[in-house]
Amino acid sequence: EKLLNIKDLHVEVDGKEILKGINLDINKGEVHVIMGPNGGGKSTLANTLMNHPKYKISKGDIYFEGERINDLKTDERAKRGMFLSFQYPEEVAGVTVESFLRTAKMAVTGEPLKILTFRKRLEESMRLLDIDKSYARRYLNVGFSGGEKKKNEILQMAILEPKLSILDETDSGLDVDAVKVVSEGVKLLADGEKSIIIITHHNKILQYLHPDYVHVLIDGKIIKTGDMSIAKDIENNGYEKYKEEVYQL
Ligand code: ADP
Ligand code: MG
Ligand code: MG
Repeated sequence: EKLLNIKDLHVEVDGKEILKGINLDINKGEVHVIMGPNGGGKSTLANTLMNHPKYKISKGDIYFEGERINDLKTDERAKRGMFLSFQYPEEVAGVTVESFLRTAKMAVTGEPLKILTFRKRLEESMRLLDIDKSYARRYLNVGFSGGEKKKNEILQMAILEPKLSILDETDSGLDVDAVKVVSEGVKLLADGEKSIIIITHHNKILQYLHPDYVHVLIDGKIIKTGDMSIAKDIENNGYEKYKEEVYQL
């Protein structure tokens, strides 16, 4: 049974069709990269997977572990093990990283979690990811660098232990520190059964990750699927060749 199975997915935003028949299968333990020029629909796909209200499925189906989830709410998807990294752009004074993560964990598991039990668990994850202890006591995003925001995202993954993580890196303007945090963190967390969809152009990240599949998404369709050689080709030659294929059809 596939972890994620997307069948002929069509999605509209404000009445305009953005995704025009996406097919995508993801098995346990696989890392998939989605690349493509701006405006192609990558973020639309990520947002649709987590049921952002602006994105309407007009045709097709999404199955997670065999269950059709088209109509499942975001929090229900999270409870089943889906995770969409999303950054809180605003600073949240008064809410520490630790308390934010503990609340998120309780929301996903539906179980209470004692402060000290959680703190131990969090410190373990932070040690593993080489994040300084003091980070947990800082207020969420207050004065955070790009790298520190990324740490929060990777820590969320480590704490929530999602079966499938969807990371949309395209718009975040990652600094060198952030690229390192994401690459090393995701690599650590992608070992074993966990699956990851990562939307990125950063070849550095791709080199660390050793993705199983690279997909090229243009104009609402996945027009090519292959291995890392596609990412290298795009780095060297851009999307022109791929775009020509699309518009000849
Ligand atoms: P990508 O992430 O590949 O750059 P997007 O999914 O963000 O592409 O956008 C695909 C298309 O959908 C673009 O034409 C964009 O303008 C439009 N679009 C995406 N999200 C919205 C939105 N929330 N409201 C209106 N238009 C949107
Ligand atoms: Mg793997
Ligand atoms: Mg995007």
